[in-house]
Amino acid sequence: DAQPEPRVAVVTGGARGIGAAITTALARDGVHVAAGYSSNAKAAEDLAEKLGAEGASVSVHQGNVGAPEDCERVVADVLERYGRLDYLVNNAGITVDKTVRKMTVDDWHAVLRVNLSGAFYMTKAVLDHMTGNGFGRIVNISSVVGESGAVGQANYAASKSGLFGFSKSLAQEVARKGVTVNCVAPGYIETEMVAAVPEEVLQKLLKGVPVGRLGQADEIARAVQFLVDERAGYITGSVISVNGGLDM
Ligand code: NAD
Repeated sequence: DAQPEPRVAVVTGGARGIGAAITTALARDGVHVAAGYSSNAKAAEDLAEKLGAEGASVSVHQGNVGAPEDCERVVADVLERYGRLDYLVNNAGITVDKTVRKMTVDDWHAVLRVNLSGAFYMTKAVLDHMTGNGFGRIVNISSVVGESGAVGQANYAASKSGLFGFSKSLAQEVARKGVTVNCVAPGYIETEMVAAVPEEVLQKLLKGVPVGRLGQADEIARAVQFLVDERAGYITGSVISVNGGLDM
């Protein structure tokens, strides 16, 4: 019997932190992963080389998800290279934390552009291909902060809540075309983003986590692996929270 062709994934911000864990997990499952990055080409190439040495298949693609033309270019490159695109993981995200009083209009737009508009631009670029194929998996990496809000993160929380509404609307639009759209909402995960949080603030945050520790990036990747699986076709418009019980 002919083996099925390997699946192809695009993971934005796929070269570090949670994105690198998603790239690694999918690549080890035999998926061709196109990992996006905005800067630090060296880190992206190192990850691709490391996984390549294990026999996995990872290519790296520079681009700004906040620029629609970059999203279109990267998706066109991926389609030219692999001839297909099955999974899109919108993981790229930034924070610019300030209280609303101190937040500038630019601080607001900078975060919304990457975290929310970026997911829209990437989705626009892949959608016709997925619906035409009758199969696709879109996973948007939101946050527990999109569920609960947080002091100093009005822009970030709005972008992450925005992903819920975006995903649920799109999920309804493409449900009959074999394309599912879901969110994963991480709690506090041990990455560079959380390393920037002062130690005493972190200790306070941890007190609210029933599991009693930070999450690991590969625990987020696990939820993504689950959602992109062929057998997850009945899960759409859902949010999987991976947060150590934070929101109970
Ligand atoms: P990180 O800062 O380590 O990684 C973010 C990635 O996004 C980087 O690879 C970066 O290159 C990429 N990126 C940023 N701006 C970009 C742009 N304009 N265009 C393309 N790529 C861009 O952060 P992380 O902790 O790995 O976070 C990954 C995702 O998970 C983010 O969406 C974040 O909001 C979300 N998240 C993280 C946590 C956490 O505790 N770390 C919790 C909840 C949600």
